[in-house]
Amino acid sequence: MRAFTGRSCLAHNPGPGHPDQPARLATVLESLRSAPGIDVVAATPAPLDAILACHERSYLDRARAMSAAGGGELGTDTTLNADSWTAALGATGAALAALDYALATGGHAFAAIRPPGHHALHHRAMGFCIVNHVAVLAREAVRRERQRVLIIDWDVHHGNGTQAMVEHDAAIRFVSLHQWPWYPGTGAAAERGIGNCFNLPMSPGLPAPTYVKTLWRGIERATDAWQPDVILISAGYDAMLGDPLGGFTLEPTDYATWVHRLRERFADVPIVAVMEGGYAPARLAAGVVATVQAMEA
Ligand SMILES: [Zn+2]
Repeated sequence: MRAFTGRSCLAHNPGPGHPDQPARLATVLESLRSAPGIDVVAATPAPLDAILACHERSYLDRARAMSAAGGGELGTDTTLNADSWTAALGATGAALAALDYALATGGHAFAAIRPPGHHALHHRAMGFCIVNHVAVLAREAVRRERQRVLIIDWDVHHGNGTQAMVEHDAAIRFVSLHQWPWYPGTGAAAERGIGNCFNLPMSPGLPAPTYVKTLWRGIERATDAWQPDVILISAGYDAMLGDPLGGFTLEPTDYATWVHRLRERFADVPIVAVMEGGYAPARLAAGVVATVQAMEA
């Protein structure tokens, strides 16, 4: 089983007290490297062209310049240091390498990266996110003539940036399970895009099987008579019990259950998961390892 990361992803540091600490990814990489049968590969940074499919050039120029000048506030809750721009490119590069691998082999792959991506808008940083990695992958998959791209977002927060980028695209379907009402405030069930968005807002504190079942039913609805040819996952682990930024109750085995069900229902469809949130490092790492192992077993 293969996991991809970017060499620069650990160097992004929004400062003390910010939830997106380098220790999150450091703990994940340590756990992946000590788990049997998982190769962790360092990918090359993303080419700007791939990112320009989703983001305005002037916004990307601003992010690069701010980082080059030592850092600053690029957007709400999104603080840059001198390494943040290269970290963002490194993260997207690892996600693209995971997509390459999955499309070339028909297998599955995980991108262990930070900063996360699913709140980033085409012209604006938001919610710790600079570049929207999963949206870049969806566009890239369409460019490579994949007709039906399914995005599943199981982060505890709604993937508002992803939805905004794909909600008019008939080749892409977006299913999101998230806490409601909660940051960022979008993701009502009535937000359907062109009929390609399937939002599943849920209360916190429910039993884990309720969340597992609800997301699965959403996936079944989204793929009724619509067989995806690639599955992309915005894999957030802040939906786990005990996360400081969410009130869901998931355990590592719940992520494994979803992956196993996806593999059973969509045999031979490549799955690419990109890491999003998860702010209790040891829990995050356990969730990632369970996901990656389920991709293989
Ligand atoms: Zn989140």
